[in-house]
Amino acid sequence: MHITVLGCSGGVGPGLRTTSLLINDDVLIDAGTGTGDLSLAQMCRITDAFITHSHLDHVCGLAFMADNRLGLIDRSLRVHAIPETLNALREHLFNWTLWPDFSRLPDEKNPLLTWHEVRAGEAIHADGYTLTAFKVLHTVPAVGYVLENRDGILAFSGDTGACDELWSALNALPRLDRLIIEVAFANEDERLAQDSRHFTPRRLGQELQHLKHRPQLYLTHHKPGCEAIIEAECRTALAGRDYRHLHRGDVLSL
Ligand SMILES: [Zn+2]
Ligand SMILES: [Zn+2]
Repeated sequence: MHITVLGCSGGVGPGLRTTSLLINDDVLIDAGTGTGDLSLAQMCRITDAFITHSHLDHVCGLAFMADNRLGLIDRSLRVHAIPETLNALREHLFNWTLWPDFSRLPDEKNPLLTWHEVRAGEAIHADGYTLTAFKVLHTVPAVGYVLENRDGILAFSGDTGACDELWSALNALPRLDRLIIEVAFANEDERLAQDSRHFTPRRLGQELQHLKHRPQLYLTHHKPGCEAIIEAECRTALAGRDYRHLHRGDVLSL
């Protein structure tokens, strides 16, 4: 299984794309601006998108992919998310005002998007692997996802601040080989990070004491312009840990 990082920044800018991970060539975890670099053919190959939460930097690609696929492909793109996220997408994005309701286009029998509820803790079987959502703490209801195949287990935190649910879900796993986790803000923005439910390097370093596994860490979602200071602060906060900063275009295998 290959996981291609289409985007992993906390914002946009030259060379920066927001969160989207491509599993093999047909499943997305989140659909941020990183999906905009896919060709039409690649967009048409996507069968499923698993969404962590409703924030625009994680879902805006659904709007443009659905539009691009109109007239090119009959198969629906299945959107999986917790009920609160699905409701937010229907009420606030695909509501005919901000964007057309592509769950009714081109017609109700053959829509471009279909909605599928995800429940935390329930494994969903995909092609040679399973995906399981776990709850995290963000300013809107949010989950992360565990990906598991015969060779190992990878978890993606999505957007989260410090919370017991994150560590208890990860500690319940029999092993954890890789953890993609967000570090959005620098230490000096600790207050902002707490209010917006994100991590700083210092807080992540402290909170990782609760994790019983020692996975390879991949750090994501740095706010544009803060990358260098976050990297410098991680050298102190995560000293002794096996970590690297994730970049657009990176490919992880599991
Ligand atoms: Zn968010
Ligand atoms: Zn985000």
